Amino acid sequence: MLTNSPVWKMACDQFDHIAEYLGIAQTERERMKDPKRIMVVHVPVRHDDGTVRNYTGFRVQHHMAFGPTKGGIRYHPDVTVGEVCALAMWMSWKCALVGLPYGGAKGGIACNPNKMSQTELERLTRRFTQELIPIIGPQIDIPAPDMGTNEQTMAWMMDSYSTRVGHTVLGVVTGKPVTVGGSLGRKEATGRGVAFLANRAMDALKIDADGATAVIQGFGNVGFHTAFGLALHGTKILAIGDHTGAVHNPKGLHLDELAAHVEKTKGVVGFKGGDVVTAEELLSLQCDVLIPAAVERVITEKNVKNLKCKILAEAANGPTTIEADKVLRDSDVFVLPDILCNSGGVIVSYFEWVQDLQNFFWTEVEVNDRLYRILEQTLSQVMQFVKREKVYYRDAALAIGVKKVADAKKVRGLFP
Ligand code: NAD
Repeated sequence: MLTNSPVWKMACDQFDHIAEYLGIAQTERERMKDPKRIMVVHVPVRHDDGTVRNYTGFRVQHHMAFGPTKGGIRYHPDVTVGEVCALAMWMSWKCALVGLPYGGAKGGIACNPNKMSQTELERLTRRFTQELIPIIGPQIDIPAPDMGTNEQTMAWMMDSYSTRVGHTVLGVVTGKPVTVGGSLGRKEATGRGVAFLANRAMDALKIDADGATAVIQGFGNVGFHTAFGLALHGTKILAIGDHTGAVHNPKGLHLDELAAHVEKTKGVVGFKGGDVVTAEELLSLQCDVLIPAAVERVITEKNVKNLKCKILAEAANGPTTIEADKVLRDSDVFVLPDILCNSGGVIVSYFEWVQDLQNFFWTEVEVNDRLYRILEQTLSQVMQFVKREKVYYRDAALAIGVKKVADAKKVRGLFP
């Protein structure tokens, strides 16, 4: 049904590999893989020029064994149901790995937010939320931002849901602006977490973060905060790429100037503080840490042999294909797998949800402290698993997450 998507196939192949390793019964495997619920909607939107366009949107809820489902909403022209199903499955293993009481979910609309006005995006978001009302809610499914969406999108979603039910429901989405129930530190959390884990990986490899080098693909929410998080400890960001191109400066990019340029022009291309490099050159630059923080499947069997990094910190979801992963598992590269590496976002989303439910808000220091404790603990669990079982980093992280879901499903029964 869904196998026409390479991303879905990739998520299934990863799961099958781990299910085999864990000895999960064949009869259980289909039920663990297939999403519990898929909603497809068509959302008509009136554009500023008066024309009406019909957009296709999806929401996928993967499993319900721990409680409500949780996951981002993506606005991107290439969004497909298969991709959203894969992202929902990865959310399940991620939440379980870091110990959050959620099943995975994901949503998306095939649209190009870069070519839409704010009013068009608002109409699209409100109409989409209206369609999702029967299947979202603070105890059912809690959306959050992902690629192409942000705090403003979440504020519109929360407002549309609240007007429909007749009172303000802060906990229906996370990643909101702080003024309307968002958590301090949520916007920065994913990138902050990536930088924290990359620093821990550098410690493990005895690389001094001060003076180390990094290359980042993606300069949106995650790439931006990762770059600044790494720079805080003296790591030089040699190159950054996005959908418009890539820039490289062997002495290190001036991040504030690049951020100002991107704010103004909506892309890194044309930045004067670096030389132009191609997307492929970007990924093969010599560096200590390479951070894909944009789309899926960018590290492939074609370019994996060209990587010259010591650490691959997967900030994006699914950046490495199965074929490339086969090469990486036999290499010396320290891989921080996506479900661990970018988990800071959903961890602080969980904190936001908890704060919203209790109407009791924490300081940023409390948020960061709790975030780092969970990341530290999870990384150490994964590293111990790798050492004890002599397995690859991704297999260890997935095995821990998948096993927790399998155990919960077993004790609950067939429903969730
Ligand atoms: P974003 O929309 O804020 O930024 C995306 C960035 O990727 C932009 O700089 C864009 O120009 C760039 N990009 C898009 N297509 C590209 C391409 N083909 N080649 C190179 N660059 C491209 O999105 P984000 O929230 O930063 O998310 C980035 C990744 O991190 C996604 O894989 C997302 O699923 C993952 N992630 C995000 C969060 C979060 O909290 N936002 C949490 C966990 C994981």
